[in-house]
Amino acid sequence: MNIIRLDEPGRLTLLQSEPPGPPQPGEALVRVHRIGVCGTDIHAFAGKQPFFSYPRILGHELGVEVIAVGDDVSNVRVGDRCSVEPYINCQTCIACRRGKTNCCTDIRVLGVHTDGGMREQFTLPARKLHPCAKLTFDQAALVETLSIGCHAVERAQVEPDDVVLVIGAGPIGLAAMQFAIEKGAQVIVLDINETRLEFCKKQLGVHFIINGANENALDALKRITSGDLPGCVFDATGNPHSMAASFEFPAHGGRLVFIGLFQGDVTFNDPNFHRRELTLLGSRNALSADFTRIISLIESGRIDTTPWITHRASFMDVVSQFPTWTNPQTGVIKAMIEL
Ligand SMILES: [Zn+2]
Ligand SMILES: [Zn+2]
Repeated sequence: MNIIRLDEPGRLTLLQSEPPGPPQPGEALVRVHRIGVCGTDIHAFAGKQPFFSYPRILGHELGVEVIAVGDDVSNVRVGDRCSVEPYINCQTCIACRRGKTNCCTDIRVLGVHTDGGMREQFTLPARKLHPCAKLTFDQAALVETLSIGCHAVERAQVEPDDVVLVIGAGPIGLAAMQFAIEKGAQVIVLDINETRLEFCKKQLGVHFIINGANENALDALKRITSGDLPGCVFDATGNPHSMAASFEFPAHGGRLVFIGLFQGDVTFNDPNFHRRELTLLGSRNALSADFTRIISLIESGRIDTTPWITHRASFMDVVSQFPTWTNPQTGVIKAMIEL
């Protein structure tokens, strides 16, 4: 079978390999139909993903079909179309015991810490498959992207009367906006890219946009919220300057959620934090429940996936096409690989 492996930064190789053997108890063998490409893959390709080891088979946003199941598998059957929850957790650590499988102490994310889905077939724990017969394979692969934003919005317990600020209009920010809107919140987006801001307004129905390159963000937030400031702020930039500045934006009594991350320290002014009695939340990966929720929201039409896919390539063209997706000028939001 064909596999695509990232041998070192900048070098993807199309290779032949033996197909996997039959699934072990608790496992499923799947055929991969769609692979979404995201920032993690781009950073790994560019050699900028911290703690990333090469060679690695990328691919963690997957739409798959079950082709065999091992003993003791009851949640999926042969022929099922599924979304993959790529966060393989240990099931025994303190986080796992408390249901926080997304931040397992020994987490192995497919396509990051262990080989992922950029191959025709692979086996994985069947418990990480989410059947979604009514979704297309494209939509099945998008569920993981959406899950990062969905989980953050669930963490923050966004309510219909909330005013929500999302900083950063990349895919993670876009997902957070979609789920905050779905909750009925008023949503403001802050970015410095006018094209992305317009996209948020036209395609996602975001209520207010602020271009931080053209106006003072704090002044704009005060104007939009009649001086209150947003009750909930999501930083989806992973930019240390943005993250440090974001402590100025939540309302008194508000929440600040860091979805993006960078390798370093974030500092903040304690009196500012204390005076507002802020709640600071990290948000990592997503839970099984987020996948279930997203699948039903897509099925019912409450989450629209049509704006997401901007680029496509066949599996055989990935090696030549992939480098073009690393260029932000191409306007790529989500590239989808078909096989
Ligand atoms: Zn991703
Ligand atoms: Zn664990």
